[in-house]
Amino acid sequence: MISNNGSELLYAAHEKIYPREVKGTFQSLRNYTVILLLGIYYFLPWIKWDSHQAVLFDLPARKFYIFSLTFWPQDFYYLTWLMVIASITLFLTTAIAGRLWCGYACPQTVWTEIFIWMERWAEGDRNSQIKLDKSSWNVNKIWRKSLKQFLWIGFSAWTGFTFVGYFTPISELGQELLTVSLGPWEFFWVVFYGFATYGNAGFMREQVCKYMCPYARFQSAMFDRDTLIIAYDEKRGEPRGHRKKGASQIQALGDCVACDQCVQVCPTGIDIRDGLQYECIACGACIDACNNVMDKMGYCRNLIRYTTENITQTGGVIRLIRLRTVLYTFVWLFAIVGFLFAISQRVPLDLDVIRDRNALYQTVDEDSIENVYTLKIMNKDRKTQRYQVSVSGLPGITTVPAEITVEVASGEVYNLPVRARAALDSIQRMSSEIEFKVATLEAEAQSVHETTRFLAPL
Ligand code: SF4
Ligand code: SF4
Repeated sequence: MISNNGSELLYAAHEKIYPREVKGTFQSLRNYTVILLLGIYYFLPWIKWDSHQAVLFDLPARKFYIFSLTFWPQDFYYLTWLMVIASITLFLTTAIAGRLWCGYACPQTVWTEIFIWMERWAEGDRNSQIKLDKSSWNVNKIWRKSLKQFLWIGFSAWTGFTFVGYFTPISELGQELLTVSLGPWEFFWVVFYGFATYGNAGFMREQVCKYMCPYARFQSAMFDRDTLIIAYDEKRGEPRGHRKKGASQIQALGDCVACDQCVQVCPTGIDIRDGLQYECIACGACIDACNNVMDKMGYCRNLIRYTTENITQTGGVIRLIRLRTVLYTFVWLFAIVGFLFAISQRVPLDLDVIRDRNALYQTVDEDSIENVYTLKIMNKDRKTQRYQVSVSGLPGITTVPAEITVEVASGEVYNLPVRARAALDSIQRMSSEIEFKVATLEAEAQSVHETTRFLAPL
């Protein structure tokens, strides 16, 4: 890249992209996806479940609520597991359908789309926006630019507020906002995430995908020759050339009428006719634009279409079942089934047993031995629970007293000193394995077990 004075530049100056509005199947699909995903994002924190916010990551209380489930820091591996499932889902969809995530579901794409809608509403279509940017400042320009900024800033603030609402109960946050009594950290994070939304979706836009997103760089590792890509049919389209609307196909020219509609609708400003490029987020806008042109010309559709490298080079059909996709599907199903099984077996109770290290054992009444332990009982349920403690593993072993019940509040870790007593003549070894059991006192009792050692003077 050479500058005006002849010196070499490291980076090309950024040129603003004005994506042209397009109508068609893929654009409709994107619109529905944007509405669905943003609808979930903005309204999910307002849903209540069991008198709690349905989805709440309560960091100060170290509890994560996800509908009927409550996760504690000890359950972190469940969340890690969910993230692993999400990653495998991404790998699988990428191997099959290429950059489906980028074009339809990535937050950067989804919010940018909304910001583009607001921009069009305030400043008009592509040509009007270009004209407005070139014009000198006048009342019309100030009004339209101010309206756009007002919409962008308002939407960004709502986004930041909603994001913080996943970590602080959103109804309380709303009241604090209305009474201008937001805490300093809450205020900071609302502004921070609002600013991030504004910067990424309003100004950076395609530059985030081109220069900042790591996924764009490593996704090619998941591609193979049968992965769906968006491609221009060069054999059919070239040599390209202008012609009158409705003109029949010309012998010397291909079907591309060189209208540049596919370039003008592209949110990353590339020309798909130059071949597959990493900047292409597979949004399908160029397919819609070109199909509209083909319809007007009376030519066959799909000069630009979803296809695969194999089909474009050797013909053939889309192959969904390949070693890579089968492996990804197998691992994906395995991870999902394993996760569902683990969740169904999950007991909202944790137990840790610590032996008293000050005394190995105590002789009682000359014919019995006692060992002392501390039981750490954690109630991971949403309500206060009563638990019964018992011990087994040696003939006649019992706790002292024999009946121990404790009440533990939700989220509390209860330290319970417990003595276990066994008759000397029932003990065969110096160190025997015993097991503590803590069970709820409900009809359908849930319990956890923990093994430890019982020491005796043999
Ligand atoms: S929209 Fe279709 S016809 Fe127009 S330039 Fe692009 S590929 Fe050619
Ligand atoms: S080339 Fe087509 S599919 Fe790729 S980003 Fe541009 S408009 Fe979207």
